[in-house]
Amino acid sequence: MIQLHQISFSYGDLSVLEKVSFRVERGEFVFLLGPSGSGKTTLLRLLYADLEPIGGDLSVVGQPLAQLDKVSLPYFRQKIGLVFQDFKFLADKTVQDNLALPQRLVGTPPQTIKENVHKLLNQMGLLHHQNALPAEISGNERRRLAIARSVINNPLLLLADAPTEGLDLRLSLEVMALLDALNFQGMTIFVATSDRQLAEKCNKRIIELRDGGIH
Ligand code: ADP
Ligand code: MG
Repeated sequence: MIQLHQISFSYGDLSVLEKVSFRVERGEFVFLLGPSGSGKTTLLRLLYADLEPIGGDLSVVGQPLAQLDKVSLPYFRQKIGLVFQDFKFLADKTVQDNLALPQRLVGTPPQTIKENVHKLLNQMGLLHHQNALPAEISGNERRRLAIARSVINNPLLLLADAPTEGLDLRLSLEVMALLDALNFQGMTIFVATSDRQLAEKCNKRIIELRDGGIH
């Protein structure tokens, strides 16, 4: 699902990743654990082809990224769900419309959209807020909505960047339980976090990123 071979990346003179290699198999749930500034966000951006490595090869959802061109990029991105730190919603659209939109964009039939939205809102504990605006639900609920939106088109791989940042351990474990349920349905989950306690509590595989390398 993810294969990195000797991947290096720098911003100008600042070297962030040095010859990083690892692989993640289909169906795995993996934490990328590292302190702030260790390069987690950078690595995620490389995985969905938002940045290009300066050296090495990587392949994601079966696609060698060096061979990705402008035409195949949107098709590639459709296979990946992204939960990023600054989740933005359409402020004047309801919770359910925010989930319906990404499906309309890929041409999902209206009845299927309705069913998918209902199922996912139920799974994320947001059904009672379906007609609310994003600003009318709590920060914690918006975070669950962000996860729902990232998986509504049923991606093969979910990349989550610090999805529990700012939450206490109890709420963090709740978010992890949602991700675990998605993993159980077959989705490969890759979560970047600086929270060692959380990563260790979840009993999943941990890849540690430190000083530009994997440990
Ligand atoms: P993390 O997500 O683990 O906190 P980042 O990948 O955001 O780490 O950052 C890794 C390093 O790269 C940090 O030193 C950060 O300051 C630097 N960095 C991140 N983004 C940029 C950028 N767009 N331009 C220059 N430096 C950056
Ligand atoms: Mg980050």
